[in-house]
Amino acid sequence: MRIVLVGPPGAGKGTQAAFLAKNLSIPHISTGDLFRANISKQTELGKLAKSYMDAGNLVPDEVTIAMAKDRMEQPDAENGFLLDGFPRNVSQAEALDELLETESMQLDAVLDLEVPEDEVVKRIAGRRVCRNESAHVFHVTYKPPAKEGVCDVCGGELYQRDDDSEETVRKRLEVYHTQTEPIIDYYKAQGLVVTISALGKVEDVTTRAMEALK
Ligand code: ADP
Ligand code: ADP
Ligand code: ADP
Repeated sequence: MRIVLVGPPGAGKGTQAAFLAKNLSIPHISTGDLFRANISKQTELGKLAKSYMDAGNLVPDEVTIAMAKDRMEQPDAENGFLLDGFPRNVSQAEALDELLETESMQLDAVLDLEVPEDEVVKRIAGRRVCRNESAHVFHVTYKPPAKEGVCDVCGGELYQRDDDSEETVRKRLEVYHTQTEPIIDYYKAQGLVVTISALGKVEDVTTRAMEALK
């Protein structure tokens, strides 16, 4: 299966993607995690991306699309993938369509996670991620680690993402509404969108998502 996850920052895309990817035996591809891995390795791409990310803006399409393409062309993604955080605007969606077309592939679904803005703000404010692996995600009240400040999965140090500050979150939500939401209509025109509520327990949302993808 080839699936795109959309939803505002903090909706629970990464959290759901981890479970869905496992259930569906497809790789979870998160452009945010790829950028953060580049930042921690201090690559040129990481240095470039960080300035945009810290301001709450999108990283330029050219580098983002090249990075996503490169990841989608890895052998493990041959039979499907779950895209989390890409595409994030209509030009990226068009680039993805072109890429899929050259490979005679198609998307199966675009899963739209709906969460009210006040809940998104609470989820982001309490989010803590692992320094070793930004896909290891916790929440101070909704998903506290067994030991404060320590990742349950790998023992890494938990920290608050630089772009999860209140000011940057406001900017990211604005960017979501103006640049990312239009891709929902773009994919609606292709009949691909399934919308679910991402409120409630993590496992209930996963069940809802699996039902919607049937
Ligand atoms: P969240 O999970 O909170 O939605 P992400 O980890 O997906 O955040 O993204 C964090 C930041 O990384 C974004 O605010 C943006 O700066 C950058 N980023 C991630 N994916 C993309 C993309 N497809 N295009 C441009 N920038 C991106
Ligand atoms: P996104 O990738 O969309 O930005 P995350 O998966 O990182 O979102 O989730 C944002 C925060 O909300 C994390 O701290 C995560 O632990 C928490 N979270 C995710 N799903 C739920 C849920 N269903 N209920 C409560 N908190 C959640
Ligand atoms: P309308 O449907 O009237 O255009 P919006 O699209 O702005 O209204 O949605 C109303 C609220 O739902 C907004 O405050 C926004 O935070 C939230 N919302 C919109 N789209 C999504 C989405 N894809 N996922 C989660 N929440 C969303």
